[in-house]
Amino acid sequence: MSAREPVLSVRELTVTFPTPRGPVRAVDGLGFEVHRGRTLGIVGESGSGKSVTSLAVMGLHTGASITGSIALGGRELTGLSQRDLNRLRGRKMAMIFQDPLSSLHPYYTVGEQIAEHHRVHFGSSRRTARERAVEALGEVGIPEPRRRAREYPHQFSGGMRQRVMIAMALVCEPELLIADEPTTALDVTVQAQILELIARFQEERGLAVIMITHDLGVVARVAHDVLVMYGGRGVERAPVDTLFAEPAHPYTRALLDSLPRLDDSDKEPLRVIPGSPPSLLTPAPGCAFAPRCPRPADAEELSRCESELPLLDGPTGHPAACHFPAYGGMAP
Ligand code: ADP
Ligand code: MG
Repeated sequence: MSAREPVLSVRELTVTFPTPRGPVRAVDGLGFEVHRGRTLGIVGESGSGKSVTSLAVMGLHTGASITGSIALGGRELTGLSQRDLNRLRGRKMAMIFQDPLSSLHPYYTVGEQIAEHHRVHFGSSRRTARERAVEALGEVGIPEPRRRAREYPHQFSGGMRQRVMIAMALVCEPELLIADEPTTALDVTVQAQILELIARFQEERGLAVIMITHDLGVVARVAHDVLVMYGGRGVERAPVDTLFAEPAHPYTRALLDSLPRLDDSDKEPLRVIPGSPPSLLTPAPGCAFAPRCPRPADAEELSRCESELPLLDGPTGHPAACHFPAYGGMAP
């Protein structure tokens, strides 16, 4: 794989769930790339399709219809057998979640679980796998790793458990790490430590990271590039500094306006943007943000926003899916 080839390339991804009330299109026409040694922050309100996207990349959806392309290191993942996907998952790409307890088995020690993971993917001996597990626990900053490897998940604090998950994710040396709200359940100090740990590994190992969060504060800390999602679609994409300095999409601007300014201990999902998220059952023909958007200046503009879907074009630069993007700084 050449240095410039993305580790992950997602094109025109659409994920639809059949429901009794009709198909729910949770992700629609989404595209992005993640490169070696870079962190892509995916940000958006609760329900914008972030987790559905990450589960689609990991091949973890059952019963959803998935179209478009998901390529890992140039290899197409959509349409792969469950067996091939299982091999890649864990080995080439790994994921950590908000709640580590949901992915750890309560009846096995953390050392056993990490070792088993290593054995499955590398075919290593029990002894080697056990040694690697202890090393991995040490690498993620767990004191006395040999002793702690013999303990069970419930004996770890929330932050330590998330470190265990990171050890589990990294023990197979994946190329891509997806972190879905990994610090949302943690207090501010622990949150900072976990983000730092992920950032350190990504630098040391040249990992490609997707950091999924509803919190622009997290994005500001760790992301190199940002994709903003709204109603299952990408609405703006830019390098992190550009996004904060010159948010072009009215939704991104609203998100930035809702950032707490003095103290970021507020863990509530962002709910301060007036209005409610769009319906995924009966999507509007135009821009999903139009009903909440302050931008349309008159009836003519509004009619265009409501009827014509703005697209997020171009793989590079600073695209915004808006008919009236505000490039060039924060105008009122
Ligand atoms: P978030 O951005 O908060 O991670 P999700 O990706 O979890 O949002 O979900 C986006 C939307 O997809 C949800 O609001 C829900 O309507 C829909 N959705 C997710 N999973 C399912 C499912 N299994 N069946 C039906 N709809 C789903
Ligand atoms: Mg989510």
